[in-house]
Amino acid sequence: MATFLIGYDTEHGDPSVTRHFLEAARRVHEDLEVPCTLFVVGRTLRQSADEFAALADHPLFDLQQHTDSHLRLKTVYQENAAGVTVFRGGSPEDVRADVAAAQRSFEKILGFRPIGLTGPYNYYRGLCDRPDLVEIVYDEGIRFLRCWGRNEHDWQPTPFFAPFPLTALGFPDVWEYGIHGWQDCILRQELGWANLDGYFAWLRDDIDQVVARDGVFSYCQHDWSSTREDPEMTLTRRILQYARAQGMRIVSYAEHYAEQVASVTTRADAATGDVEPVAAHARSAS
Ligand SMILES: [Zn+2]
Repeated sequence: MATFLIGYDTEHGDPSVTRHFLEAARRVHEDLEVPCTLFVVGRTLRQSADEFAALADHPLFDLQQHTDSHLRLKTVYQENAAGVTVFRGGSPEDVRADVAAAQRSFEKILGFRPIGLTGPYNYYRGLCDRPDLVEIVYDEGIRFLRCWGRNEHDWQPTPFFAPFPLTALGFPDVWEYGIHGWQDCILRQELGWANLDGYFAWLRDDIDQVVARDGVFSYCQHDWSSTREDPEMTLTRRILQYARAQGMRIVSYAEHYAEQVASVTTRADAATGDVEPVAAHARSAS
């Protein structure tokens, strides 16, 4: 069965934008009974602590992190029709401090430490070429990434690929999900923010392709873009309804990750009789 994952990068500096989004998203997801993941910037979390706390135990909302200050984990060397644009990433020390700061805010405000991280801007190959960064975020408790969201030009669209574990890097319990196709804000800007029908038609084609291959669609929207020119998120509602009508299973990232780890453990159990969870030996290969 094809799978649809929707994650919202929740990052705006103006709390009124974020709060409006949280209310609209809650109505859409509760009406449709469809789960989602919010990847929240620590700064944004602190600005609306009560509003996020109200979602912490919500069965349809999975809360993960998107760094503390929206620090890029890697430099983006973006090549497109406009030429080359460089967005510099932080140093490894900056990345450690920023991801750790977000973990502390989550723990203090919501009482838990996220296991998922979306890297600001996203990058070609995610963190696959940076095992040093994987180790840094692993040490902070991160177990799934959404960082491979650009193509070989550090641009869009990103090819659709199945989520995979970073076993070759020595982290078999860390999974990369990517962001597939176009990040919503980039494509909506290209098509025109008010062109909701044009965007929906694009997404419908992407969904059809994934369904035909029985694949996984890791899809990205943002707090500020989801409500732009569409305050009630009618576009998001249409996309989710369409994905479900095509027979896609819609799950949160945390739930999907838990299933992957459990299935690996089950296979290992069957082969060796070993009942330890896979996480217990995660690092032995490194
Ligand atoms: Zn972001």
